[in-house]
Amino acid sequence: MATKGWYWQLEPAKSALARYSSLKDPPPCPKCCLAAGFAKDSNGTGRNTNGCFRCKACKLKLRAKDFWSEVLKLPLDALPPRELPQDAGKLDTL
Ligand SMILES: [Zn+2]
Repeated sequence: MATKGWYWQLEPAKSALARYSSLKDPPPCPKCCLAAGFAKDSNGTGRNTNGCFRCKACKLKLRAKDFWSEVLKLPLDALPPRELPQDAGKLDTL
């Protein structure tokens, strides 16, 4: 049985979430410009699931990579490369 939200253990979702969690105030959304905060969401199914962020105001869904550059305004070269479930040993049973 896969752990719910296992994809948040994989990069780049992991780093994006860690960075977002460390912020005192949520950054504004690139679409609606409101700082309503972002909810954890996902894209895809099964092993291809990726962690995404969803704006609580306009429901804009952003991939971790886009969230990193467009919302957190961080350089993409500072983002760790994408990890797949098979890269994480503990996820072998997925
Ligand atoms: Zn928004």
